[in-house]
Amino acid sequence: MTASDTSILAYDSSDEYRPEPAPEPQAPAWRDGSVRIGIHTSIAQGFAGSLESARKLGCNALQIFSASPRMWPRVGARIPEMEAAEFRAKRAEFGLGPLVIHANYLINLATSDPVLRVRSIQAFHDEMVRGAALGADYLVVHPGSSRGKTSAQAIRDVAQAIRQAARGARLCAKFGDLRDCRLRLLLENTSGMGAAIGSRFEELKAILEGAPELPLGVCLDTAHAFHAGYDIRSEAGLAQTIAALDRTVGLARVAVLHVNDSKTPFASRVDRHEHIGRGKIGLEAFRRILNHPSFSASAGRTGSVGNKVQEVANENGKFNCSSGSRPGRAFLLETPIDAPGDDRRNVRRLWDLVGIAVKQAPRAQNGFTMLARKATIRSGSSSRATNRSEGPLRNLPRTKKSRLSKG
Ligand SMILES: [Zn+2]
Ligand SMILES: [Zn+2]
Repeated sequence: MTASDTSILAYDSSDEYRPEPAPEPQAPAWRDGSVRIGIHTSIAQGFAGSLESARKLGCNALQIFSASPRMWPRVGARIPEMEAAEFRAKRAEFGLGPLVIHANYLINLATSDPVLRVRSIQAFHDEMVRGAALGADYLVVHPGSSRGKTSAQAIRDVAQAIRQAARGARLCAKFGDLRDCRLRLLLENTSGMGAAIGSRFEELKAILEGAPELPLGVCLDTAHAFHAGYDIRSEAGLAQTIAALDRTVGLARVAVLHVNDSKTPFASRVDRHEHIGRGKIGLEAFRRILNHPSFSASAGRTGSVGNKVQEVANENGKFNCSSGSRPGRAFLLETPIDAPGDDRRNVRRLWDLVGIAVKQAPRAQNGFTMLARKATIRSGSSSRATNRSEGPLRNLPRTKKSRLSKG
């Protein structure tokens, strides 16, 4: 190298790259204060297929699995970036949000079995990685169950397992910062079957406190709360339940509600979901739940329900969550699909309950159902033709029908 060459390579401060100031992070469009309603949607037709289904069912939010929920995915199972990018682009195009991922049912973060514990932590970490790749907003997990442990021990173990699983995952920095769009983790309350923990809000709170550095919140399942002894059927019971939730985890941490009616009676501790209004909780109770100001999807909103409302920010530009409202809070169904169209009808029922007419709600495709895709395509948009084609599909194997009825 000659002397003139080295002068070219010499450092010149005027060459220094000066990036534009980073733009202020923006809250995603789905946090505009509008009511967000969705259903657990099948990935059987691929990740992009779940978005199509959600749209055709009249949803503006959705929940999916990121892999088969009842078997262990291969350790380190990832989603190819091309598929993830296609999914993210399509989701943005459809305006669906939030996107919630339900973690695999085999994960047990409270287990006393050391092999299962390691496997669960690894699988939960992989869920976080896949969730981040898909651009998901929330990852929901059940705290787990443990025999031969005190509840305090189980809670410590769950918090520790979540912290281990979160190492190296791309998570949101602070749960309350609504402009940070990265993945948050949500613990789901349980029915309290067997040795399951997390049926009491106090237990969820204790787990949250055990991992204070993580963006941890709660997903409230109405059927599970009912099974666990929170009587949300009456106005007074709902008020007490909400007060208990606020006292413990705090309403601002409740980002998602799983809206399910129950086949099983109050305080049964047995988890069976039912269509909205057809179970032991009942339609009027769901009307109160969906319209309760504490569960409002809009910041600072109290009372009346509309499709779109103005966001309210305080003088610091922070969203006001003090009344329990949280922009973008979603109501997601995990109701059974016993007959074709049950999925669409349950979605429509939620829109009815919040007082949003067919014309104002996201448009559903007449006759579409996740159970009878082929029949729907054949029969086009005529509802009579759809009804006729539903006949033989009623005989689908029971396991397929009820696959989405738990969770
Ligand atoms: Zn669940
Ligand atoms: Zn659930």
